Amino acid sequence: MVGVGRNYEDHAKEMGSELPASPMLFLMPNTSVAYPGEPITMPAFTEEVSYEVELAVVIGRIAKEVPEERVPEVIFGYTVANDVTARDAQRTDGQWARAKGFDNSVPLGPWIETELDPSDLRISGRLNGATVQDGTTADMVFDVPFLISYISQAMTLLPGDVILTGTPAGVGLLTEGDTFEGEIEGIGTLRNMFRR
Ligand code: MG
Repeated sequence: MVGVGRNYEDHAKEMGSELPASPMLFLMPNTSVAYPGEPITMPAFTEEVSYEVELAVVIGRIAKEVPEERVPEVIFGYTVANDVTARDAQRTDGQWARAKGFDNSVPLGPWIETELDPSDLRISGRLNGATVQDGTTADMVFDVPFLISYISQAMTLLPGDVILTGTPAGVGLLTEGDTFEGEIEGIGTLRNMFRR
């Protein structure tokens, strides 16, 4: 999986960060995937675990140096992701591999929607039923065609690869027993409980 950092201006602001001039990419291992509904165990090394609802793009064809106008040909579909992040490790490590790549740190689901225009979809997150994130994919700094084209200039994308496209504002910490629901218009709701 490839993640994109700071891709919504309101989220970059709330983190006290500048907007990147080009997409800020990071990688997550396949062992970080979690199922919809799967309880997520927050690892012992972190005291600050945060949720981030994100639009996830699932690649359907081998993609290398794809021009923006041909990006739809390489996309299989879309799903909801929670880019669960250990904020303390993110601050101390510099690189984000541990903070965003620990086991089960990327719940995906509830299914893959194959017929969808991703350009202006409501994207929201609920913590124990209360809305905490509420944005639109229209506010992405770099949109889906640009991101897939840009990433494919550097690395060949393979069927089943997943691109996480960033989170809108409203991120916050999770504690034991919390339930987080990420919802994207036209796809559905991804729900996971968090435990120690
Ligand atoms: Mg994120």
